[in-house]
Amino acid sequence: MKNEGLLLVISGPAGAGKGTVVKELIKDDNIRLSISATTRAPRGKEKDGVEYHFLSRESFESMIAEDGFIEYAQYLGNYYGSLKKPVVEWQEQGKDVILEIEVQGCEKMKKIMPECISIFIMPPSMEVLEKRLRGRATETEENILKRMKRAAEELPLAKNYDYVVVNGALEDCVEDVKTIIKAEKLKAKRFHFE
Ligand code: 5GP
Repeated sequence: MKNEGLLLVISGPAGAGKGTVVKELIKDDNIRLSISATTRAPRGKEKDGVEYHFLSRESFESMIAEDGFIEYAQYLGNYYGSLKKPVVEWQEQGKDVILEIEVQGCEKMKKIMPECISIFIMPPSMEVLEKRLRGRATETEENILKRMKRAAEELPLAKNYDYVVVNGALEDCVEDVKTIIKAEKLKAKRFHFE
């Protein structure tokens, strides 16, 4: 019996804490995070190749033309996309792969790869979300307001996901996502019986 790796799509509004949750999950050596490409400028101490591959609009558009992305979308005027190559390679190695992407990207993934598992990370309240966004101290007021507005648009889309996890206390949220992964791996359809 062979159990293949999972493709997990994790979304949630900016400030929901998905990044922190994902950092905890990838401490497991069997789980890999896809590092996206983006045309947005690095924030704070972000480094090229670590948080994102930071690309010019021109380079991003040539990668689109070369079919280098599994999915890509525009978010607040910038491109964001998941690179095809590493995801395919990790999947072939049987690793679980996480795509941390926004809602349009998830919608595309469900169409192209219906077997992917979508998880929406929900902030406990809009007040907490705003506090977390302001706590970053790397965003301009204009950007904070744009992200808050976008969050209000994204929250109702949680109903389209396979799972919704509220990120109040980090450990509980991480535990919930690990439970989802465990249960998904135990689904009979994932086993190849002789
Ligand atoms: P941020 O600028 O805060 O890093 O990311 C903005 C939004 O873009 C977040 O919701 C993040 O999950 C999403 N995002 C990051 N990478 C990708 C990607 O490759 N594809 C899509 N569709 N969204 C992404």
